[in-house]
Amino acid sequence: MEPFTPQLVYIEPQALDYPLGRELKEKFEKMGIEIRETTSHNQVRNIPGDNELQQYRNAKSTLVVGLRRTLKFDTSKPSAEYAIPLATGCMGHCHYCYLQTTLGSKPYIRTYVNLDEIFAQAQKYMDERAPEMTRFEAACTSDIVGLDHLTHSLKKTIEFIGESEFGLLRFVTKYHHVDHLLDAKHNGRTRFRFSVNSRYVIKNFEPGTSTFDERLEAARKVAGAGYALGFIVAPIYMHEGWEEGYEELFQRLGEALKGVNTNGLTFELIQHRFTKPAKNVIMKRYPKTKLEMDEEKRKYKWGRYGIGKYVYPTDEAKNLEETIREYARTYFPESEVQYFT
Ligand code: SF4
Repeated sequence: MEPFTPQLVYIEPQALDYPLGRELKEKFEKMGIEIRETTSHNQVRNIPGDNELQQYRNAKSTLVVGLRRTLKFDTSKPSAEYAIPLATGCMGHCHYCYLQTTLGSKPYIRTYVNLDEIFAQAQKYMDERAPEMTRFEAACTSDIVGLDHLTHSLKKTIEFIGESEFGLLRFVTKYHHVDHLLDAKHNGRTRFRFSVNSRYVIKNFEPGTSTFDERLEAARKVAGAGYALGFIVAPIYMHEGWEEGYEELFQRLGEALKGVNTNGLTFELIQHRFTKPAKNVIMKRYPKTKLEMDEEKRKYKWGRYGIGKYVYPTDEAKNLEETIREYARTYFPESEVQYFT
């Protein structure tokens, strides 16, 4: 798959006070992309399209270059202490994506150019917790790797954390455009994870992302560049033949990683979940989706802000967890499963 190129770019005027803002403006001008000015991302209206669905699709290829104004980082349990905000939104079209609801009516992609302010805040958090390590997750609100060939802000973050004394960085991606990150001075402080799934899930629910083989090729490259490597198996979804589907996934991972140093390899396991508002949005945006979201077949789990989520019933979740843990043990005996949720 080709690296992401926006069809339309909005630039907030203040972004031009920052080197990255100016650099991106020049880059997009040279690429011949239409650029519009906007005083704030909330004013990004009139995204072209005859109806909501069209506008949604167009928004996914619209990039807003702006400032991160809220410098209070969200927490990011269980994988990290904080989410480091480099971008929001994603060019992918995964049907189950939780950004569907968290970004609601603003599904365009935003990249933040005030990196020094973001890094200063990250430094504060690290200082507060020192000598405890502070882990930052860079892919909470976006697939940052999918965007980074344009901005290199992830690369700068990798190097910033690489120089820190008490910081660790992690992120996850479904994209394979990693070449510019291979020479980043990460100093072993970054864990590079790829999101993987059974063939069925990738084929039916992950349009607009790199293929499984492309992700694996990229995984080989980043392991070769000395990054700590991990895989997030998410969402784990009980489709027909899921046991074979997920076993095949681990077999293929095992094949692909032959000869690669997988010391310290980690897996994170996340079962499929949905909320009622998410289901409504998904049905509107991907009306033909095969994604099963039948509340009757799930267990309701209370959540933050009163919005509960539907997960698999306890017995099924246990079955999923045990089965996948077993595959991880069989195909990667040295690996660590960090959590199942
Ligand atoms: Fe969402 Fe990740 Fe898919 Fe992007 S790649 S649409 S962030 S699930």
